[in-house]
Amino acid sequence: MIVTIDPEAGPCFGVRKAIEQAEEILDKSSVLYCLGDLIHNDEELNRLKNRGMKIIAPAELSSQKPQMVLLRAHGERPETYATLNNLNINIADSTCPIVKKLQTQIAETYLITRVNGGQIAIFGDPNHAEIMGLQGHCQNSAIILQSADDIRKLNPRKTIYLFSQTTKYRSHYHSIRKSMEEYLVGQGVNPQTNLVFFDSSCKIVADRDKQLQKFVVQKDLILFVSGVKSSNGHQLFNLCQSLVTESYFISNEKEIEKEWLVNKNNIGITGATSTPLWLLEKVHNQVISLTNPQEAEDH
Ligand code: SF4
Repeated sequence: MIVTIDPEAGPCFGVRKAIEQAEEILDKSSVLYCLGDLIHNDEELNRLKNRGMKIIAPAELSSQKPQMVLLRAHGERPETYATLNNLNINIADSTCPIVKKLQTQIAETYLITRVNGGQIAIFGDPNHAEIMGLQGHCQNSAIILQSADDIRKLNPRKTIYLFSQTTKYRSHYHSIRKSMEEYLVGQGVNPQTNLVFFDSSCKIVADRDKQLQKFVVQKDLILFVSGVKSSNGHQLFNLCQSLVTESYFISNEKEIEKEWLVNKNNIGITGATSTPLWLLEKVHNQVISLTNPQEAEDH
């Protein structure tokens, strides 16, 4: 039986940078406050909490007044920076540079819409931290499109500026864009004049898609390791499931069921862009110990 960890799996550079920043602070200090969950992976969060990281909610800032707060890769609203500055709290900013760039684009586009009456539309999840942060950069004016059905919320007579949450699939974004073009044509409006689109989905997520398609070839079982709150984890898992019937979504090695491994010859272990490598290794070791306890003991 072959058990392989996906060589391309592991945290994306934005998540890695945030974790490294948290670790650097924890090397020097026994406590670190992070505004909201640092990443969408409970196992990695618990490891950092055991080292002294505490999660703080925006409403607790004024009562707890920590010396320093770490901002996560998803980015924040401008008001968050203002609140922290007013409270004299130092900021360790681990906003991913790709998200930062998108925030700037949204803020600049917002100024344009103030002049021409246009509308900002973002393909994404309204409850995702990145989207909540982006709304802060355009005075909450963006219309969030969860699916093509939401396109009707837009006024076809006004210019539409279409963006994407960074973790959304590029192909899904382009299919929303296509539906929007059809909608405009149906309303007698020329998309070339009334639709401006910015494909702001993250290339790293798009590349993971292609890498995953290569990795799952000839696997008869996929163990997909991810936090349940990871949007990208669910998307990548759906892709695995469409390619390998026996694909299981697990949060940690304890969730593996022994019967999944029966009569399997080629098992693949992979995960989301927030899944740490050490967790994939734990899953690997658990598979070995469930299928060959003697070998696991020898290690
Ligand atoms: S998925 Fe892309 S945009 Fe999001 S944190 Fe990772 S590198 Fe940054």
